[in-house]
Amino acid sequence: MSKRNLDKAVVLLSGGLDSATMLAIAINQGLDCHCISFDYGQRHVAEIRFAGRIAQALGVKSHEIVHLDIGNMGGSALTDESIDVPENGEDLGDGHGIPVTYVPARNTIFLSYALGYAEVLEAHNIFIGVNSVDYSGYPDCRPEFIEAFENMANLATRIGVEGRPVRIQTPLIDLTKDEIIRTGLSLNVDYGSTVSCYQLDSDGLACGVCDSCRIRKAGFAKAGAPDPTLYA
Ligand code: ZN
Repeated sequence: MSKRNLDKAVVLLSGGLDSATMLAIAINQGLDCHCISFDYGQRHVAEIRFAGRIAQALGVKSHEIVHLDIGNMGGSALTDESIDVPENGEDLGDGHGIPVTYVPARNTIFLSYALGYAEVLEAHNIFIGVNSVDYSGYPDCRPEFIEAFENMANLATRIGVEGRPVRIQTPLIDLTKDEIIRTGLSLNVDYGSTVSCYQLDSDGLACGVCDSCRIRKAGFAKAGAPDPTLYA
């Protein structure tokens, strides 16, 4: 029987502020981190370039870019150019419905891929940067979803049934954006190497008005930290 290895993690790295912070947390826990970024047909595909910078800066064991065109399905402002990205701050969820930036089943698909990879690597941790505080309304960011996925994961895999279970780690789930930023700064995350904007321009400048930009800006302001984002 192979030796149980608790020291590896598969980390879903988007190139955003949250997943960069989460990666720093995982590394700080002494885990060997194997990152995955998805090129899934998102309009803000430039985020993958930022993911590469973060992975390099923080020192990961590996970083895979996976092409998975779930954007073909459409159904989200992030993958369907005919649906505008919200800029009015009225689509932030706040318990009143699901934002149009929700991508159908995205976290289920990403976690499923990560699960297969974790099984191959004998990694017993999968890190996903879901957060249910500042940007609520995504059904696949809720703690009950994560718990259900973890249960399923350990029913569905050899490592699960052979008693070497996988844990889905969500260190950011209860943190506000400014708490996430403060945590990352304490771990020396360079937020200038992260991107949050849903509609970066061709020069890589953030729009400053989409909901994701608004949440990011407010987070830096509340954390009392300079925002290194380059805005158009
Ligand atoms: Zn933006």
